[in-house]
Amino acid sequence: CGIVAHHGLVPALPALLDGLGRLEYRGYDSVGVALDPGDGGPPSVHRTAGRLPALVAALPADVHGATTGIGHTRWATHGAPVAANAHPHRDCSGRVALVHNGTIEDASRLRAELAVRGHGIVTEVDSELVAHRIEDALPAVPDLDAVVRAVAQAVDGLRGAWALAVLVAGVDGVVLARRSSPLLVGAGTDRHMAASDELGLGPEVTEAREVPDGHLVALADEVRWFDAQARPVPAPGAWSLGARS
Ligand code: GLU
Repeated sequence: CGIVAHHGLVPALPALLDGLGRLEYRGYDSVGVALDPGDGGPPSVHRTAGRLPALVAALPADVHGATTGIGHTRWATHGAPVAANAHPHRDCSGRVALVHNGTIEDASRLRAELAVRGHGIVTEVDSELVAHRIEDALPAVPDLDAVVRAVAQAVDGLRGAWALAVLVAGVDGVVLARRSSPLLVGAGTDRHMAASDELGLGPEVTEAREVPDGHLVALADEVRWFDAQARPVPAPGAWSLGARS
């Protein structure tokens, strides 16, 4: 029931795992991360039922250098709390990895629509449907702006609540979207992060901004803000987090 994302000059995994540990109080039946391998290949997805140590034990060595990633602690609403239903979720091609906090309404209708369009849906989870909708909206060779547009299109017309963080193969950055679920973006000297609350941003992050309801954010070397139609908007005001531990 919490998400965290990282793009920075330093490895993502310590910040993601630390953030997930701090978000544990929000609900915790399974946990997962996806890391950008940085070579244009698909996001590397690792997830498990249970708690953080089980995930850490299952992580391969080659993800430790990745500087961009997303993470999730789940409190299941659709589908049993088993590893196969844990986040991050993927599209058919494996080039989209997504974490979602919240609930998508009308999931059975959306599932049927996607099945008609040929999507092989592999879990019982509402969140997976959003990954497939993003896949439908992506061009063959997307850049970060194309991912922002695809995510905006994928959530357009959805009902429910979401805080989303999305990685796409070959795109350097994380795209965020939120409606009716909390989501903050934070900055420190060597990183940009996003998390469901201040605790998830961790001690290296010194200022935070709230993602306005219905808006999207591209988290990369720069942080850029967009309205629901993927039109650029000014950044909202920041507050200082000061020195924390
Ligand atoms: N509805 C999603 C699920 O059942 C997300 C739940 C959450 O916010 O953890 O996996």
